[in-house]
Amino acid sequence: MRFWSIALMGSRMSTLLFTHSACLEHDPGSHHPESPARLRAALEGLGAPEFARLERREAPQAAAEDLWRVHPRRHVERILRAVPKSGHVAIDADTVISPRSGEAALRAAGAVVAAVDSVIAGEVDNAFCAVRPPGHHAEPEQAMGFCLFNNIAIGALHARAAHGLDRIAVVDFDVHHGNGTQAAFETDDRLFYASTHQYPLYPGTGAASETGVGNVVNVPLRPMSGSSQFRSGMSLRVLPALDAFRPQLVLISAGFDAHRRDPLAQLMLEEADYVWITEQLLEIAYRHARGRVVSALEGGYDLAALSACVAAHVRVLMSV
Ligand SMILES: [Zn+2]
Repeated sequence: MRFWSIALMGSRMSTLLFTHSACLEHDPGSHHPESPARLRAALEGLGAPEFARLERREAPQAAAEDLWRVHPRRHVERILRAVPKSGHVAIDADTVISPRSGEAALRAAGAVVAAVDSVIAGEVDNAFCAVRPPGHHAEPEQAMGFCLFNNIAIGALHARAAHGLDRIAVVDFDVHHGNGTQAAFETDDRLFYASTHQYPLYPGTGAASETGVGNVVNVPLRPMSGSSQFRSGMSLRVLPALDAFRPQLVLISAGFDAHRRDPLAQLMLEEADYVWITEQLLEIAYRHARGRVVSALEGGYDLAALSACVAAHVRVLMSV
């Protein structure tokens, strides 16, 4: 039996779900893979009767001060000023915004901030943020890769500023490297960032040699790696380093685009791999962080796989 199974004696977990309708209205244009249909698919997966006891809350908008901990004020203002009154504006070739994108981005970041508050206050055991746009490619001064603000990094720095946590970890199993989160964390040894990702692949960062100040663990995986390489990378590199860091809060950049059905990558994971890694991360969270886990949606572009994998991930968060 797993450590946390013993600790909890089969008790069920209370899990919060943060989302907001504005996140469905961020429109990067027809045929863009980061579509509103993704969030609809994720929420449909969580609409099954087994998720009836999920506590659902509307994501608030992040405060400016929350954003400024990761992104300079002038950059935040530049992004929000770029939001068009109609039509679309391309920030780069991949990152396109529409009239509702500003509110969607503020609510995506605000979801993680509010989830951190609820989990640290002990209102619930853990939380999942079903939001878009995603965040992990957003660097402090560069929106990119479908991402405007770095939702998970904003949540991490809020946990420090508002709650005084000293060791905060992000584990990122999206198929792409979270260059933005790494950029925000890599000089600060009280923050920890670990990523498994297909390599080479967008955005081109995430070599194993990128280790920050000893607080960054990158596990690049070749295309077609599959479950065994993913699990051994996590088991041999990420999880021991996370355990040694003794996080007081575990944040998850939960992208599901490493699934074998995903059209943007070829890492060939299965739904069971997401169940497994969620269990592993919960176990470490129970060992060091009183079980405190906040997970936020990043990528995942096959709608059926996304729906099933989000459900599988949240099912583990909810129950032992
Ligand atoms: Zn991705």
